[in-house]
Amino acid sequence: MAKILVSACLLGCKVRYNGSDLKPSNNDFDWLIKHHQIISFCPEVSAGLPIPRVPAEIQCGVGQNVLSGNAKVLGNDGSDLTSQFVLGAQLALEKCQRENIAFAVLTEYSPSCGSNSIYNGHFSAKKKVGNGVTTSLLKEHNVQVYSQHQVHLLQLELNKES
Ligand code: SF4
Repeated sequence: MAKILVSACLLGCKVRYNGSDLKPSNNDFDWLIKHHQIISFCPEVSAGLPIPRVPAEIQCGVGQNVLSGNAKVLGNDGSDLTSQFVLGAQLALEKCQRENIAFAVLTEYSPSCGSNSIYNGHFSAKKKVGNGVTTSLLKEHNVQVYSQHQVHLLQLELNKES
């Protein structure tokens, strides 16, 4: 049984910016929950952001650029939320390191948790290729991050290890 960090909103917690969750209904995800030790975590709420909160997107870059100080995370009201997003990423990493977690399933498209694509910074519902801030930091420290649409790939990886 592996320990897996999972975005809290995928587990039915109503922690998204609009107070909703994003619980997937697919067999792979159900398998994951049933067969592994799931550690629920929301970087944004852990960093002190409220529920609900303004929607935020990474401007002019992706997660790596935010971590290196070359891009910002802004709310759609113009508020600068960069420090909270970086703190959320650091807290997620601390959690993984403290609990020896090597795998994560995080929510696609989120500016924190996205792992293949994120929203493009124009609040237009369009996406760009890239990682969110938390995903970037976890990957930099060798945590393998999958989206909720890639649980079958994680399943293959875990089967190799067992
Ligand atoms: S930060 Fe991640 S866990 Fe929290 S609501 Fe956004 S996508 Fe879900």
